[in-house]
Amino acid sequence: MSEAAQPAASGLREAGPQRMPSVEIDRSALVRNWRRVAARQPNARTGAAVKCDGYGLGAAEVARALHEAGCRDFFVAWPEEGGIVRQAIEALSDTPESRIYVLQGIEPDAIELFRQERLIPVLSSRDDIAIWTEGASRPGDRPIAALQVETGMNRLGIDDQDLDFVAALVASGDLKTGLLLSHLASADESREQTGSQFRRFNEIAERFPDVERSLANSAGVFCGPEFGFELTRPGIALYGGRGSLPDDCGIEPVATLTAAVLQIRTAKAGEAVGYGGTVRLSRPTRIATIGMGYGDGYRRALSGDHAATRPDLPTPSAFLHGHRVPILGRISMDLVLLDVSDLPEGRVQPGDRAEFFGPNVPIDEVARAAGTIAYEMLTGLGPRVYRRWSQGTN
Ligand SMILES: *Cc1c(COP(=O)(O)O)cnc(C)c1O
Repeated sequence: MSEAAQPAASGLREAGPQRMPSVEIDRSALVRNWRRVAARQPNARTGAAVKCDGYGLGAAEVARALHEAGCRDFFVAWPEEGGIVRQAIEALSDTPESRIYVLQGIEPDAIELFRQERLIPVLSSRDDIAIWTEGASRPGDRPIAALQVETGMNRLGIDDQDLDFVAALVASGDLKTGLLLSHLASADESREQTGSQFRRFNEIAERFPDVERSLANSAGVFCGPEFGFELTRPGIALYGGRGSLPDDCGIEPVATLTAAVLQIRTAKAGEAVGYGGTVRLSRPTRIATIGMGYGDGYRRALSGDHAATRPDLPTPSAFLHGHRVPILGRISMDLVLLDVSDLPEGRVQPGDRAEFFGPNVPIDEVARAAGTIAYEMLTGLGPRVYRRWSQGTN
């Protein structure tokens, strides 16, 4: 299941021909983050969002690791993703049986998959409800579903005008539901919008007595004890994204993206570097060519020339032999250039691996430099990036 632990890769030469980009995933750090998030809401169960292949890191591995830690509520976007999670945890002693919620509703063709893999659809409209109640139940059998209600995000959720209808269905027993949920639009940004969603959610929940409630994503977990309800649904914090979580949140990096030096060269002052010749060297420069590019999810917006045009953003850089080294020129599909002039001559060798995010280069900083968020850095990791699971340190 897990590969042998690899040392923190920065600057270490890796044996063998493996020069492709890789992301090392620290299983223990993932579990520690889950426990830290759980400790913030001791009165609620803590679930895990494992959609989009576990935020790009591997849904099966993530689900198994968190299941072993005690997680029994998993959230995915699509039933196919739910099937992968079900298969991954099936072999474990899954008691009580885990609940796998499918956030994006249901279509008739998927009903068989829901039954087979024992997935719980999150119903967000009257149409969803009709498909589920007509398609999924056999006589005398009312399989359980979750309900998502609209509280101010205008994304997915049952609208106000349908609440009477839905509440009546639930009260009559025609729709069996075990969980009421809604999603916070800006738990990490706006107390005002969050407060209004919180109040609305409570009002709606009163109409569904004895149904468990879930509102908090990662940022929501840190909004206060009243946001825990019965179940939380953290995602990004488990994977090491802090966003604007408080400094004492304790969330630690989980994923370390590294790539190998393929070649080292010295270019003269005045020479151009990379596509478009966007960089003209002002000094003789030692350049390390690295085997990773935007095709692997290391976004082109991290090109070195953006540093000049966007001084308000962090300078894109990597970590090599104990130092930050800047990205030089434009990022290609398969290659990126580093200016390693400030490292001692001869220090950088082909095969050395540089860290592009991880313990030495916070993923939130890289995301900000790229004009995006940690979620997109992780889910954008391409299929060529080898996912290497390690135990890390306990
Ligand atoms: C993605 C998602 C989550 C997890 O959000 P994070 O911000 O990653 O913690 C929770 N609930 C829903 C409905 C989601 O779509």
